[in-house]
Amino acid sequence: VQWVYNFGAGAADGRAEMKNLLGGKGANLAEMASIGLPVPPGFTLTTEVCTRFYEDKCTYPTELKGQVAKALARVEERSGQKFGDATNPLLLSVRSGARASMPGMMDTVLNLGLNDWTVAALAKRSGDRRFAYDSYRRFVQMYSDVVLGIELSHFEKLLERAKQRRGVKQDHELVAEDLEKLVMDYKARVHVEIGMDFPEDPHEQLWGAVGAVFNSWMNQRAKTYRQLHDIPESWGTAVNVQAMVFGNMGSDCATGVAFTRNPSNGANDFYGEFLVNAQGEDVVAGIRTPQELTIKARKSHGSDLPSLEEVMPNIFRELCTMRQQLETHYKDMQDIEFTIQQNKLYMLQTRTGKRTAHAALQIAVDMANEGLISKSQALMRLKPELIDQLLHPTLDPKAKKQVIAKGLPASPGAAAGKVVFSADEAVRRAKDGEKVLLVRIETSPDDIHGLHAAEGVLTTRGGMTSHAAVVARGMGRPCVAGAGAVQVDYAAARLSVGSVTVQEGQILTIDGVTGEVILGEVPTVPPQLSGAFGIIMAWADEYRTLQEFGAQGIGLVRTEHMFFDGGRIIAMRRMILAADEADRKVALEELLTMQREDITELFRIMDGRPVTVRLLDPPLHEFIPHTEAEMAQVAKAAGVPLNRVRRRAAELQEANPMLGHRGCRLAITYPEICEMQARAIFEAAAAVGKAGGAVPVAEVMVPLVATLQELSILKEVVEKTAAAVQKEQGMNFTYRVGTMIELPRACLQAGKLAEQAEFFSFGTNDLTQTTYGLSRDDAGAFLPEYKAKGIVEQDPFVSLDQEGVGELIKVAVERGRTARDGMKMGICGEHGGDPASIEFCNKVGLDYVSCSPFRVPVARLAAAQAAL
Ligand code: ADP
Ligand code: MG
Ligand code: MG
Repeated sequence: VQWVYNFGAGAADGRAEMKNLLGGKGANLAEMASIGLPVPPGFTLTTEVCTRFYEDKCTYPTELKGQVAKALARVEERSGQKFGDATNPLLLSVRSGARASMPGMMDTVLNLGLNDWTVAALAKRSGDRRFAYDSYRRFVQMYSDVVLGIELSHFEKLLERAKQRRGVKQDHELVAEDLEKLVMDYKARVHVEIGMDFPEDPHEQLWGAVGAVFNSWMNQRAKTYRQLHDIPESWGTAVNVQAMVFGNMGSDCATGVAFTRNPSNGANDFYGEFLVNAQGEDVVAGIRTPQELTIKARKSHGSDLPSLEEVMPNIFRELCTMRQQLETHYKDMQDIEFTIQQNKLYMLQTRTGKRTAHAALQIAVDMANEGLISKSQALMRLKPELIDQLLHPTLDPKAKKQVIAKGLPASPGAAAGKVVFSADEAVRRAKDGEKVLLVRIETSPDDIHGLHAAEGVLTTRGGMTSHAAVVARGMGRPCVAGAGAVQVDYAAARLSVGSVTVQEGQILTIDGVTGEVILGEVPTVPPQLSGAFGIIMAWADEYRTLQEFGAQGIGLVRTEHMFFDGGRIIAMRRMILAADEADRKVALEELLTMQREDITELFRIMDGRPVTVRLLDPPLHEFIPHTEAEMAQVAKAAGVPLNRVRRRAAELQEANPMLGHRGCRLAITYPEICEMQARAIFEAAAAVGKAGGAVPVAEVMVPLVATLQELSILKEVVEKTAAAVQKEQGMNFTYRVGTMIELPRACLQAGKLAEQAEFFSFGTNDLTQTTYGLSRDDAGAFLPEYKAKGIVEQDPFVSLDQEGVGELIKVAVERGRTARDGMKMGICGEHGGDPASIEFCNKVGLDYVSCSPFRVPVARLAAAQAAL
């Protein structure tokens, strides 16, 4: 088995594609070496060594020692130096490198191979004793910290004392003798701490560092990081051993980091920072102010330090060539580390650069226009979630913020507002023009009007699929969910986090991208849709085959939302509280007027494009409050006795509303509601036509159907109403009656249902609940553990369960289309905005995807990706 892979000087055993075996860093070092970039020679111990190490009780495969010795000899040959040599010693860096970058892992050890002999040689060859002993001091400190596990503070104290003795403030003011003495002090300290001498033998040092990397794979930090980022333990880490190059040997040396394009706005500018006479991590550590790479950047940042372009123009040009070479080769923006040793440039790392959503779009469009990648590659590389982020206001990155708690980033965007603790208060204040933030322990369908009125929502309980999260995403409201550290006291109208208390009316800001809850108002910047956004959307439309409504029609109009709003809920309640049928008719008359107005407006805006209107779906008790005080209010507003409100509330109470008196079951028992809604729809269609607009093909959708009889009964009601309206209005129009498929029984009976239904819309939220026997509002209690244990890969409410729910959909599509050829079918619900689910819909042959309007661009991109 090959456990060790070489790289350096125009050749390498590995390639960029071998990240699983070599880790990200190792694979890219190999790739850079083989395309001829100046990479110091080195070798990589594979991730398989790590896996074996743990399988075999922390021992190495027997061939490893020999393979490392050989690889080390290659490095010595390539560098013309010898490891541990007393005249021309080779020094090494030892770096961990997993498949995915993992901050929890071991830190890099630099200058490995130094001891009392080699340091003298280094001093002699470089002609710089100070440099040699500074490198030695850094090495002893780094090695003691990361390999021997000795507290850094010991060394910091000794360094402080050395500076005091010399009477100076800065590290670099120490002279060679001070540093030499400091190394002795460090080593003495090491002996005290571990009862052993600091290892002088370079080989012992090397194996010590290698062992430390492998051991760090199982340290607590790394474990936690893996859990948070779904990285399997079985991956293991690789170890990279590489010849050192020195950016700290004098003023013709430097070290730096760069992005091949601007990672924040995506502009095609070389963008980076460097430090003269410094080693590796000094740049990121912020010890000194780094300098800009280009004159342009220096000017735009108003820096008075010269740029690399000015201080080392030749090296700068070389670096620019490499930038070009890297982008042409990797076909993506790269994030690089480089070091200049005595006017010679070395590359130490490259990887795909992290970037903002904004930059991602810009770079994809630019690279396609430059011919570096194709349009379809540009589309494929953009995560649809990025688009979602772009559509919401975000916190001004320059603003100061005092974060008081953190929850789940449930719906993107930033929102600030006066804290309110009830939906009614949110509505009341919003009417007065105040911006409010609704804070609830959790939300229920009773709070919809408050969610609507608020700028954003914060809950202290519940997960990414809790009611608040789902509704907020649907409405495009930012939401932070499940911020457990926040204590809400409804009675006192205040919340607290530790010692911080926030009263109703005080301002909080939430960031739905990070999950942060911030005290006071943080300025936001409005979403800025760049030209690149429009271009990407246009390209997406060229490729996608799935239709999605919202852009081309409306896939689901939830009529109940029209009844929750403001004064309408009163009419709705009057209808529910009606003493008899005559009474109910009066209330329905009122609702008819409102509903007709709303739908007319929709039809008018949609200008002939299809609009699907769903009959009333939620159980009636959702419209009736349950506290005594609220019931009294309702009684007064609706003009009915309090007792009747109490009685109706009790009658409507259900043990399991999700499976209760809702959906078509309501229309079956109260056909007058169905009739009223059908009438509103058809009268609206007629009104639009009479006003000279395009007459829409209205689609009436019956929810929660389980049997053909249900559908037949209601279809007849709708048809009768349609005929009546056509006669009254003296005009003809076409319409369709279809059904939602959201129960397993409906999937299995799809063939029969298709005899009556003219279209299907899969309601995947309810279908998931009923297929899994899993309530969306309660799943939060155990789903995270299910995910951690690998029982489910994804929350089935976020990403469609293709094996189970998907199978039922497939069956239904097949049976439905067999009965009714070319029948129109689509899905609606949360899944309509999820890329993986959209891909699935494309595969099973659905015609359209409907989702909340805020997710339409996301869906457009995902649909294109599904078609590619
Ligand atoms: P990270 O994963 O945190 O980037 P690295 O392994 O890249 O860690 O190394 C940390 C620092 O050490 C970097 O700044 C890098 O430039 C420096 N470094 C690593 N290898 C060498 C080397 N062979 N010669 C000089 N500096 C090095
Ligand atoms: Mg690095
Ligand atoms: Mg449903």
